[in-house]
Amino acid sequence: MISKGGSEALLRALMNAAQTAQPDYSVLLPLLRLLAKIGQRDKEFGLKVQKLEAIDVTLSLARKNLTHHLNLVHCLWVLRVYASSVSAGTMLGINGAMELLFKVITPYTKKHTRTVRAAIEALAALLKSKSNSRRADNRGYLCELLRLYQDWHRWDTSNKYIHIRRGLLLCLKRITNIQSARETFLSARGMEILFTTTQDCLDSKSLDPIVTAVAQILRKCYPKRPLPVATVHSSYSFSLPGNVNAEPPRAEPEDDYEDDGEKEVEKDLDNEDLEHKEEDEDLETDVNKLCSKPGLDRPEEDLEQYKAMCPELSFTFQVGQYCTHLRVIPNTAFMEQQPCRHRDQSAMRAVSGKRAFKIPLQNWVKKGKQIGTPAFEKQAMGESVHDADALDEREDPGKSHAPPLHPLLQDASWDTRMSHSDSMSCFSPIHVEAGGVSDVVTKLLERHHQDIPFHSPHCYLARAGSTKSIPDYRVLAFSDFWGHQPPAYNQSMLERKNGVQRAKVLEDVRRLIQPGDLIDRVVFDLDERSTDALDCLRFFSQFESGNLRKAIQVRKQEYDLIMNADVNSIQHHQWFYFEVSAMKPAVPYRFNIINCEKVNSQFNYGMQPVMYSVKEALQGKPHWIRVGYDICYYKNHYRRSAAAAGGERGKSYYTLTFTITFPHGEDVCYLAYHYPYTYSALMSHLDILEEMRNPNKVYYRQATLCQTLGGNPCPLLTITAMPESKSRDDLEQFCNRPYAVLMARVHPGESNASWVMKGTMEFLVSSDPIAELLRKCFIFKIIPMLNPDGVINGNHRCSLSGDDLNRQWLAPNSQLHPTIYHIKGLLYYLCNIGRVPLVFCDYHGHSQKKNVFLYGCSIKETLWQAGSTINTAVVTEDVGYRTLPKILDKVAPAFVMNSCSFLVEKSRESTARVVVWREIGVLRSYTMENTYCGCKSYAYLLFSCRGLQIGTRELEEMGAKFCLGLLILQLKSLPCSKNLMAQAAGLLDLEEEMTDRWAQRSE
Ligand SMILES: [Zn+2]
Repeated sequence: MISKGGSEALLRALMNAAQTAQPDYSVLLPLLRLLAKIGQRDKEFGLKVQKLEAIDVTLSLARKNLTHHLNLVHCLWVLRVYASSVSAGTMLGINGAMELLFKVITPYTKKHTRTVRAAIEALAALLKSKSNSRRADNRGYLCELLRLYQDWHRWDTSNKYIHIRRGLLLCLKRITNIQSARETFLSARGMEILFTTTQDCLDSKSLDPIVTAVAQILRKCYPKRPLPVATVHSSYSFSLPGNVNAEPPRAEPEDDYEDDGEKEVEKDLDNEDLEHKEEDEDLETDVNKLCSKPGLDRPEEDLEQYKAMCPELSFTFQVGQYCTHLRVIPNTAFMEQQPCRHRDQSAMRAVSGKRAFKIPLQNWVKKGKQIGTPAFEKQAMGESVHDADALDEREDPGKSHAPPLHPLLQDASWDTRMSHSDSMSCFSPIHVEAGGVSDVVTKLLERHHQDIPFHSPHCYLARAGSTKSIPDYRVLAFSDFWGHQPPAYNQSMLERKNGVQRAKVLEDVRRLIQPGDLIDRVVFDLDERSTDALDCLRFFSQFESGNLRKAIQVRKQEYDLIMNADVNSIQHHQWFYFEVSAMKPAVPYRFNIINCEKVNSQFNYGMQPVMYSVKEALQGKPHWIRVGYDICYYKNHYRRSAAAAGGERGKSYYTLTFTITFPHGEDVCYLAYHYPYTYSALMSHLDILEEMRNPNKVYYRQATLCQTLGGNPCPLLTITAMPESKSRDDLEQFCNRPYAVLMARVHPGESNASWVMKGTMEFLVSSDPIAELLRKCFIFKIIPMLNPDGVINGNHRCSLSGDDLNRQWLAPNSQLHPTIYHIKGLLYYLCNIGRVPLVFCDYHGHSQKKNVFLYGCSIKETLWQAGSTINTAVVTEDVGYRTLPKILDKVAPAFVMNSCSFLVEKSRESTARVVVWREIGVLRSYTMENTYCGCKSYAYLLFSCRGLQIGTRELEEMGAKFCLGLLILQLKSLPCSKNLMAQAAGLLDLEEEMTDRWAQRSE
């Protein structure tokens, strides 16, 4: 009917019928009803109404019938539909529609409620237009609406008129989209009125819509404030080499902030459409850019240095050098230097007792630098390559540059914990005054069994001694030191209670309206000397990857927490990791992290933060577990300066709130965004891996890719199978294996990527027959942590230069982005000698999505998606990039093919994935995105893991399954020896795979 001109015909009929001297209402009323119905469906109704000049006619019809309620209500229905088009609504406003409606709805009356309701709904529709809202505010209607709402609230005791009350709230919600109306609202005590009236509504389910609407209005009108920190700049700064100015854009003075919330409100409405449109516009459609390979970004002769990073290719490997390279059994002197090489604890005790850590903890901070730790570091300073076999250097104690550390927690708080808690017998053996640190550790380990695979506290301690941080950390988080083992059980996603968010918002608003119980005192501040507040939780975060900046006790059991910005930056808050102690048993504590930046979070969809309890660990449960309830994530009233919001004005921060009842009183607990994995954890893990592998079978070399800006070596591993024999054939096979380059943790907040990498590395050096076979198929080059400094200093996104390193691949600066510069150099080198890697994969974490998936690169898929007119038939493209994700979809339960994408976006042109694909020519160049939350894949349901949160076990499994995927890929897509094939077939159930191998090729 609409497409056949029905709306126009009805409108014309209305004009004719209404404009006669004595309108015939028996015709008009059905006509009005029909128009109201049709108009709702007709997207262009507003336009048609204006074109046919029906607005005035309808308005005057309504005016004529002000006392005739049946006729009036029909007119109001139609007016409401007119007003659903903003331009028609504006016209109505100019022609006095709001005045008319106010005559109908004021003063409060319970007569003719059907008409009142229709008028309120028409008014709400009119207030969608900004100019109407402005007009209404100027005429004082906002205060009238508030009064009217109070009247209805007071007299509607039996909740018969919820729709009218809700309509009034909708009017208030729309009108307060403009700044001046929000000011009127505040001065008219709107916050108090709505907050107070709502208190009577909280217990009734039928009043849910009212409470929700009120919470929305209160949240929007809450006076905006700057974040309660002296400056949004990171507490830590780092002066960059050369004359580079690392100053981020200065945060502007807060008063220049013009908030007109409307833009954001409108955006909120049709976010999804907008996103899709933006996504498509972001696609690269320049075929030249997609297809051509740019030249080197550096002189070719510079690539020679990377030869040393590939000793597996060097000619000298063959005969004479063969044996020396295999010297892996440490001599006695070596063992003394390296407690962590030795898993036997009595040996370790002897070693560590002899040397370092003899000073009482209290003296550490001052005397720290003089106390020697074993020169454990691989002395790679200034060298780009260092082979793991160069033992001599390590034996030289003069080369030690490792600062000492407290092995456990902060000295002061440790003291308190001990003296305060007789009940805490698990801590009593550790008296910090009595012995050296090694004694503390030794006694702890004696009393409390600790045997976590691939982790050793001694080894961690030794490694942490040489980790360099900007704040010069002297304390280890117990959780990192003692180690984490996943609990035997799985944890399901948290079911979100109805109304959590609005309950939290109302609690926040109560600060403003009933400030009686507010404490509002700073109990922890990185920028100032710690306060000695009593009767509150204690916070601490000055340890590796920790990043709490400030804690404010808001109410007795509620704390606002502010995370530190990335070093040399004023933004990037998402990751958090801190220690909390002095808790009381069975008391719920509410924590609010108030400076989050992302618009949404998996915390709204079942994800919980993780916690580690020292008491639990010492009782044999060294687990990071998911904890917290009443979790939600929402926009708060702290405004971001334009600079801190990437140039956009009027943006707010977001709050992540969660409540925890700690498992023990007087415990020391750690809370984090996700399972932490520090740089020291990586370094000690690598030591253990090297020690545990079978040197006869596994070729394993740890070199240093380069030093980071912060002076930490960035490790580069080479893993493959030892040659079967010294025969020429076997050596040739050894050298000619294709390369697979894997890396992780360019983004420090993505600790999940490290756990996946841990799974990959452990699998690769294992004695699993599949791993053995895989090692024969590939030479693995692994950079497990591309941004050590970011990880160490608690950054979320950037390196010390304040740059996102995964946006620097097009032209990495050798000074500012050394790890990217050198890994790109190594890839160039491989490309230059004709050894383009078969697979490249960069492990990441995805904060918004569930499951695990890959991003790859395809010219054709990008052009198709962008709707490009280019004839893609002339573009030749190998579809081999799809094989690995298809395999992973089958073998890895967490992996989902449907979530994969192979589009090349302009905004990603400087990421590892796109640059390695385009410049190095790696067809299978991927970003692996790992969820922080959990999985919803079909496979997961089959494995009865419905709705479970992901743990480190699953992440590590993903890393191992990725390896399996690589083996199948190799067997499927490349010619390999019959021998290998037969072995593989025995190991894997490959029948199905083999049959579609041929189908695959013809694709
Ligand atoms: Zn990332």
